[in-house]
Amino acid sequence: MHVLVINCGSSSLKYQLINSDSEEVLAKGLCERIGIDGRLVYQKEGLDKEITEAAMPSHKEAIRMVLDALVNPKSGAVSALSEIDAVGHRVVHGGERFAASVLLTEEVLAQVEECNDLAPLHNPANLIGIRACQELMPGVPMVGVFDTAFHQTMPKKAYLYGLPYEYYEKYKVRRYGFHGTSHSFVSKRCAEFLNLDLKNSKIIVAHLGNGASISAVKDGECVDTSMGLTPLEGLVMGTRSGDIDPAIMEFIAKKEHLDIEGVMNVLNKKSGVEGISGVSSDFRDLEAAYNEGNQRAIDACEVFAYRVAKYIGAYVAAMNGVDAVAFTAGIGENTSFIRKKILAYLGYLGIQMDEAANAVRGEDKVISTADSKVTVCVIPTNEELAICRETVALVK
Ligand code: AMP
Repeated sequence: MHVLVINCGSSSLKYQLINSDSEEVLAKGLCERIGIDGRLVYQKEGLDKEITEAAMPSHKEAIRMVLDALVNPKSGAVSALSEIDAVGHRVVHGGERFAASVLLTEEVLAQVEECNDLAPLHNPANLIGIRACQELMPGVPMVGVFDTAFHQTMPKKAYLYGLPYEYYEKYKVRRYGFHGTSHSFVSKRCAEFLNLDLKNSKIIVAHLGNGASISAVKDGECVDTSMGLTPLEGLVMGTRSGDIDPAIMEFIAKKEHLDIEGVMNVLNKKSGVEGISGVSSDFRDLEAAYNEGNQRAIDACEVFAYRVAKYIGAYVAAMNGVDAVAFTAGIGENTSFIRKKILAYLGYLGIQMDEAANAVRGEDKVISTADSKVTVCVIPTNEELAICRETVALVK
């Protein structure tokens, strides 16, 4: 089957066309600056990137341009749109309603819409992308794959906040967790790669990207994760604060004369390692500054690694043990000095890092020594492939 995977943001859209039989990516790219001016990046497997600047007033024009590029006689990946058998859409928030991927019917779309106030920036954009695809590809089955679904197995003690219970009842305020597609993919792949029985395993997945989250996966099911009602909670991220004392919000609002939106903007966009370092949210820049002795970059890296190590300790307690720790996403896959810093805290678990193996980038690899009591590995995530597999499973 040919599956088009769509990940719609508020002003951008990423896509991949995948042959689900060979799991080969036939073409991929993105649309940027939708609603502003518009730029399409398209790359057919084996060819150079093509960049087209063109007006994209809405996601509909963006998707139309993607479809045109996919069937372009010169560099298209298929000869007609009828060769696209299904579309898999990433949907950020599925609330408590969606614990698994689902075929997108009108009834389901209404339910997704009901989750909009839980993710007001993301879900409406996802829905616009779905509607645009439905209009341009009538009759093609579409599947929604939710970022929150994998975490729906968390027990109540992990997802309830210490808040008045009525907020949970009335507004569904609770921990949901995000990056679920990645945590699911990586935990399964980790078990397969290490020859563990997934149904009898304790795996901690550290998804360390610009957005970062960590999860405890016991017997193949998520039992806890660090992001919460929104992706702001948990680890220190590129520009997000992660866990803070909630009273800081009032304190800063008064000092800086900010309203609640102003404070939220600071916590989401001006905090994290960028906020601490004043250098960058990107660990390539941070590592360079760290090596030059920039003290704030050093502080940012130390805070980042320490927070991850603390969460790993917490999740070992949550699962009463751990068989494997898997690092994934941009930083987890590529930044060996951060992995080393994190693992340096975990000697008490009997974890021993293999210095040479830790030099790895972007491939499945064990980075702990043979006698390490817990196996540590790097497992590259592939959310698009995970969405493609989910789509095929529901469409076939
Ligand atoms: P992601 O959100 O998973 O795409 O991860 C993006 C982040 O990963 C970037 O902001 C960098 O901090 C980090 N990253 C990506 N590639 C590299 C690399 N080659 N070396 C170091 N850090 C990287």
